[in-house]
Amino acid sequence: MKKLTVLFAAIVSIVAISLVLQKAKAVTSDAGKPDLIVDQKRLLQNWVVRDEKLPATACSVEEGGITPGEHKLLRFTVSTPNIGTADLTLGDPNAHVAAGDGLYEFATCHRHYHFRHYTLYELIDPATGFTWRAAKRGFCMIDVEKFQDYPGPANNDRNYLSCGAPATATEPMIIGNQGISRGWADTYVWQLAGQFFVLDGGDGQPPVPAGTYILRITVNPPFVAAAGEPCPFTDPSGFCHQLPELDYANNVTEIQLDVPDHPGKQGVGPLKNQPQITSEPID
Ligand SMILES: [Zn+2]
Repeated sequence: MKKLTVLFAAIVSIVAISLVLQKAKAVTSDAGKPDLIVDQKRLLQNWVVRDEKLPATACSVEEGGITPGEHKLLRFTVSTPNIGTADLTLGDPNAHVAAGDGLYEFATCHRHYHFRHYTLYELIDPATGFTWRAAKRGFCMIDVEKFQDYPGPANNDRNYLSCGAPATATEPMIIGNQGISRGWADTYVWQLAGQFFVLDGGDGQPPVPAGTYILRITVNPPFVAAAGEPCPFTDPSGFCHQLPELDYANNVTEIQLDVPDHPGKQGVGPLKNQPQITSEPID
């Protein structure tokens, strides 16, 4: 009897996984395609350079190789609306991991799945081209907020709300449903874990001297597949992308900003004088 129950459970999971995979394929049909952009207005209005104390227990400290304690940080908000003609549908990360397609990895500290290579954050010295990387290591893509400037119909449903997580010794599996609906945006607010650059060398990168820099955000960034690495979608220039899109030419946003020598705890930038973060929210 127990064997039958196990068999039944196995069949149910196989059916569930194949349904999810079929759903994931549907985004490439003629019905339409997603189109991801980076909201530049949002970025312009939401950044700050300031001093913060990072506790040893923070996921960003653990994952980013940052020494605990006081650091000079550039925090910023990234919002990536889907302005296309179809939802971006990823479904349950548990199913992607079971299929071994390399789209997701499990983030131990966050205790959920992260999409790999969703958005690239770069801080660039325009004089030398030197580029720093941010502390964020992964993304859970869901509908966070409606995008008010969506050119299509305004009555779009919010379809994607769960990051998903595998079972642990004490907690059951959480079935995920990741994606971004038409007219909705996935948003990573400046308070979140890893949503910053460490400017004082505290994460092993060179310190960022005071001066003017370019903050460049690229959603669904182009990449060249390594040997054996999947290349799920190709743009007109031949670069690989993880996700299908109507237009790969509108995926980059840049803003220019000044990094001061001594920003203090109040900080410098549009978000100066915001309260310090007492416990790091993760996503
Ligand atoms: Zn996370």
